Amino acid sequence: MRYTLIPQDPNAHLFGVRLEIGTPDPAGQRLSLPAWIPGSYMIRDFARHVVAVDAWSGQAPVHVEKLDKDTWRCEPCAGSLLVRWQVYAWDPSVRAAALDDTGGLCNGSSVFLRALDVDDGPFELLIESPEAPLRGRWRVATTMAADAVDPDGWGRYRAADYEELIDHPIRFGAFTRFGFEVAGVPHEIVLPGAPRVDGDRLCADLAAVCRGHVDLFGELPVERYVFFMNVVGSGYSGLEHRASTVLDVAREALPLPGDPPDREPYLELLGLCSHEYFHLWNIKRIRPAAFVPLDLSREVHTTLLWAFEGLTSYYDDLGLCRTGQLTREQYLERLARVITRVHRGVGRFRQTVLESSFDAWTRFYKQDENAPNAIVSYYAKGALIALALDLTIRQRTDGGRSLDDVMRALWAGYGDGRGVDEQGIESVSGEVTGLDLSAFFDTALRSTRDLDLAGLLRPFGVLLRWRASKAAAGYVPALGVIVDATGELPRIARVYDGGPARAAGIATGDRIVAVDGVHRRGEALDTWLARMPPGEEITLHLLRDDVLRSLAVVPRPAPDDEAELVVEDSCHETAARQRAAWLDGP
Ligand SMILES: [Zn+2]
Repeated sequence: MRYTLIPQDPNAHLFGVRLEIGTPDPAGQRLSLPAWIPGSYMIRDFARHVVAVDAWSGQAPVHVEKLDKDTWRCEPCAGSLLVRWQVYAWDPSVRAAALDDTGGLCNGSSVFLRALDVDDGPFELLIESPEAPLRGRWRVATTMAADAVDPDGWGRYRAADYEELIDHPIRFGAFTRFGFEVAGVPHEIVLPGAPRVDGDRLCADLAAVCRGHVDLFGELPVERYVFFMNVVGSGYSGLEHRASTVLDVAREALPLPGDPPDREPYLELLGLCSHEYFHLWNIKRIRPAAFVPLDLSREVHTTLLWAFEGLTSYYDDLGLCRTGQLTREQYLERLARVITRVHRGVGRFRQTVLESSFDAWTRFYKQDENAPNAIVSYYAKGALIALALDLTIRQRTDGGRSLDDVMRALWAGYGDGRGVDEQGIESVSGEVTGLDLSAFFDTALRSTRDLDLAGLLRPFGVLLRWRASKAAAGYVPALGVIVDATGELPRIARVYDGGPARAAGIATGDRIVAVDGVHRRGEALDTWLARMPPGEEITLHLLRDDVLRSLAVVPRPAPDDEAELVVEDSCHETAARQRAAWLDGP
């Protein structure tokens, strides 16, 4: 079977796609587009962007009918079948497809209709250049295996099966490439256009990050790897693939020559790259059995996302610490932020990480304003469980074993992609460490009780303390709300259960007109509220829709809900040694 993909009409954001099927299903060939993309657990119905499907058998048109929201059926025909369609591509996120006159990027799950009931590959993919004036100016970058391509990347590629076909994103346009090697394997950074960036620095740092993960697992199962970066105004996100990752990177995060080494946005970027690269092992190859084979037509539930995202989230920053991009203090500060995030919401008492994983489709990926009260993040709590597991193993084996051994055992047992069953992470952890970890996992996974992080960290010479939180990023601890001050009137974005605002009946969406009868401008409001003496009633004047309400609320002293991790210099020598083994790696 052969696909042809062409960035057909960039101004209209249209890709043109063709599929030639030598021997179509005699009952009528059905074609379907995935409803979701691996790594992002939400039904996205990519088929809604498919336009103008037609089909031909030789010179004869073949009737095409729609069967459901993402399936088409071509009527039975004698001989081969050619199906043509266009895809409207104007979703610049990491998980879909976008195209304009500056270039584009597509994930195969957004563009390649899958032929059902016929052989699943092998596939040929012809990537054709757009018309003039773009012809000759654009290039192609993808990690898909190339058969016969020109120096700019246009030509013929191949994929063994559909899952592989859609797991190699394709970048079009004019772009900048930086290259480095890790374990003899070529790695690339592909950035659209020609952004100002210190490429040497980026390559050196990423090479160190990647090498750290390769050393942990002991091998690198790819022939090349690409970091595809979208440069965006603000924010970070990433999606992992088998030999690449697509990242949204805030422009300010890119390093410029002469930058100081520890600029926070840059460290954030390194952390994101570290995370997605770790997925190369942990989820792309070691993966839940529920994803084997992968059904992309509907939600696929697994309770294991706490491990695939949590272990990855634990190792992303720990990797930076072990390779020296983060100092111990910087690492512990980041870890403390994760602890704070998990502990600030009471949602952690209402959902286990197993439930959070299972319901990712409708809860974590469809978060509303009540999320901190109702759900726990399998990323953040999962990372804390990974930390607790690591420290528990180190402590109970006197440093003889660690979570690193669990990761290597998972790699040895499941790296071939056979799939880890729902109890697999727990059993491998027990087997490789020789410990009975059932009580640990019962608490961490099957209960909503807090982990005893302070007790686990102390033998490593790290103290966990709680301090009064400060008003920051819209969080007003005195009221227990998050205020969004970007609009004309400050708006209540979140109300935490158990806080004074909740007790007073303040609701998400309320807009604050005045405090004690005095109108306050947006930016000053949270500092103003933070200065209200605790225990003394104030009146908030709020607009709920178009109704003015006045509610009495009693600010509280800021709760001690901000975690702080402190290295205990005077700790016992054993503790210092254990700490070094944990933070510096083997
Ligand atoms: Zn991830």
